[in-house]
This record gives sequence, structure tokens and C-alpha cells, in this order.
Amino acid sequence: MPHPQYLIAHACFDCCKSFKVAPRLTYSAVCPGCGGTLHEMGRSFKAPPARNLEQWAKVQALFEAGFRFFSYRSTSGPSLPDRLAEVEAFIRDNPAHPLRVAAPSNVSSA
Ligand SMILES: [Zn+2]
Repeated sequence: MPHPQYLIAHACFDCCKSFKVAPRLTYSAVCPGCGGTLHEMGRSFKAPPARNLEQWAKVQALFEAGFRFFSYRSTSGPSLPDRLAEVEAFIRDNPAHPLRVAAPSNVSSA
């Protein structure tokens, strides 16, 4: 059995909410708010306030570029950008960033 304390922040980009859920290996967790897909953000993810749409757009852009939110005490690399306006250049300038662990994806609703 998985350890019950092993929960990871998952985000719904439609609701701008995050939920701590156990990681799923074979299927996506579902948002309790809208029934959409929850995206696994990583253990260090700090959800912005729901009304802060700029910050939610920023974390979604980073997520779609393959970044995940883990502690990088043990790795090197510049810190993730603070502002949405900085994300495009950050992604372009850091193709091999240690937190860029997933293939790029587009999670926007159709
Ligand atoms: Zn939702």
C-alpha cells in the first residue's frame, strides 16, 4: 500500500486551485470542482491565490513547458521566474533547466 502521507500538489488550471492528492500512476486525478484533469505539479508547488490569474498563467506556462516544482537545493539552475512576462524568455534561455523534467504539453482546454 502507498504511504498515506505521500501526497503531491496537483493543480486545476480551470479552477485555479490546487489539491494535495496521492500520485496516480495509470490515470489522472480528477478536479473535485469541475471534474477536469488535475496536473501533478511537484512537491514544492505553492499555489498562487485563486484570483491571481497572472501567477496561475505563469505556472501553467511553466508546466506546459515541462517544468515541475521540486526543491532544487541539490541541483543548480536559475530560480523560476516571478512574473508571467518573464516566462517566455526563461523557457527559451533554459532548455536544460534541472526542473524541466517533462516533455512539453498543452493542457489548455479545447
Ligand atoms: Zn477544476
